[in-house]
Amino acid sequence: MIVAVYPGSFDPVTRGHLDVTARAARLFDRVIVAVYGRPVKRLLFSAEERVRMIEQAVLDWPNVAVEHYDTLTVEYARRVGAKVIIRGLRALTDFELELQMAHINHRMAPEIEVVCLMAAQHYSFLSSSIVKEIAALGADVSNLVPTHVAHALQERFRGEN
Ligand code: ADP
Repeated sequence: MIVAVYPGSFDPVTRGHLDVTARAARLFDRVIVAVYGRPVKRLLFSAEERVRMIEQAVLDWPNVAVEHYDTLTVEYARRVGAKVIIRGLRALTDFELELQMAHINHRMAPEIEVVCLMAAQHYSFLSSSIVKEIAALGADVSNLVPTHVAHALQERFRGEN
């Protein structure tokens, strides 16, 4: 059985992340979407909130689980017995960073392969930061994120407009 871990900040999860997750779920026996608790960037949602939003989005996907971790990604992957780390690629700008991270991770854990997947073309511009920027200005983001995430964003930014 091949377990794949899809790590990220998911602040919040977007339809692009879910597209990558669905592709991974078709390729591997079990996919764990792993929410990193301590990214360098400032967060809008707590780890628990980010986990809950993804859980709700993947409720009907039998081989997908959601977990929270605070260690090095390769340490976490080893702990859950994953042979694969999934990352998503949008444009060339993602590629450089992902390549660097893949090499560093491979140095620390040569037994784990990094697999990069591309989301559908219409999600190639989509990022959590763009979604937050649009939502902060009071615009509708329900075509970019699941409905419950759009509501959570609306709630978070209520009163700012
Ligand atoms: P991180 O903070 O680790 O970059 P993110 O939550 O922003 O985490 O993203 C997790 C992974 O998903 C990254 O590999 C990122 O490139 C990828 N990703 C994010 N949005 C998209 C998208 N629209 N299409 C494809 N991959 C994406």
